[in-house]
Amino acid sequence: FSSPNRTYRIAVIAGDGIGTEVMSEGLKVLGRAAERFGFRLETQEFDFASAEYWTKHGRMLPEDWFETLSGFDAIYFGAVGWPDVVPDHISLWGSLLQFRRGFDQYVNLRPVKLLPGVPGPLRGREPGDIDFLVVRENTEGEYSSIGGKMFEGTDRETVVQETVMTRTGIDRILRFAYEQAQRRGGRLTSATKSNGISITMPYWDERVAEMGESFPEIEVDKFHIDILAAQFVLHPDWFDVVVASNLFGDILSDLGPACTGTIGVAPSANINPTGELPSLFEPVHGSAPDIAGQGIANPVGQIWAGAMMLDFLGEAQAAEAVTTAFETVLESGETMTPDLGGSARCEELGTAIAQAVDAA
Ligand code: ATP
Ligand code: MG
Repeated sequence: FSSPNRTYRIAVIAGDGIGTEVMSEGLKVLGRAAERFGFRLETQEFDFASAEYWTKHGRMLPEDWFETLSGFDAIYFGAVGWPDVVPDHISLWGSLLQFRRGFDQYVNLRPVKLLPGVPGPLRGREPGDIDFLVVRENTEGEYSSIGGKMFEGTDRETVVQETVMTRTGIDRILRFAYEQAQRRGGRLTSATKSNGISITMPYWDERVAEMGESFPEIEVDKFHIDILAAQFVLHPDWFDVVVASNLFGDILSDLGPACTGTIGVAPSANINPTGELPSLFEPVHGSAPDIAGQGIANPVGQIWAGAMMLDFLGEAQAAEAVTTAFETVLESGETMTPDLGGSARCEELGTAIAQAVDAA
């Protein structure tokens, strides 16, 4: 959805640790893109979803967080978590997972792309060899809380946890994935395990086939999750768009970026494709307490997440320019943060990318 007057309201939540450092660079680059492409980003910064807020208020979010944020076009998020102050399960459940559920962000989207100048762990792979998307179902499936413990304390003690998949839930993620494949002019790969999981996964396969009838030009294949994970490492060049259930997608969306190098460059989007409630864009990495405050974090993950946000808002050209900008800067190798083998500071890399947006 592209706004008619091209003004976008962005809620900025930097969070903790390096989240605040990389956020400054993200905003710097997006600001430059807005200027160059003639739209406005109306940003508003919020201090909640941070350890400091938790210390002050005993909760991660204000009571009216839903009303406060629901009118924004998107949420630009840094990183949350500071385990010395607030346990990780509280910071995560109290913030990001609330947004995901409250705003029905049923897609988790992660690009997997080998960038120039970033040393990937896979031997012999060049930029261009690896460029695909992982689309994860983000709301149902294996992560249900239905189940329990039986015969407790006896030899027959048994635990059961149900997988819940709905036709609506599956179809909406599949539609999104097919549309992505269509947009990229590519192929769709479905992660399954219908040889071992005999009720839910065959149903998933059935829905994939049926949705495929609406996208006759898209070539579809399915892989069992075990071999699919192996193929990510052995033949990453093979994939365009990969769609997976919540659990399988959770695994693949960490494995994919891991195949392309430092965690510092990977972005992630939690999307509600209806546009009725805000989607959230963030780097994959967390607050990284070990390097926080030193000014050496890699800002590319945050900047790339910003490019995804621009694309989602309908500013595809600007998104493309930001992507080209960080690829150009990384390729030149002149301004690299320590995780990329250089000695540049977070701010220097951010500034170099912002300048490159003008030329992109
Ligand atoms: P989470 O709670 O999400 O697991 P975390 O705060 O524990 O996150 P990660 O963000 O997962 O830590 O990072 C793991 C390690 O990778 C960090 O300790 C840090 O050394 C490195 N790292 C993460 N992000 C970056 C970055 N942007 N630039 C450089 N190094 C990073
Ligand atoms: Mg951690």
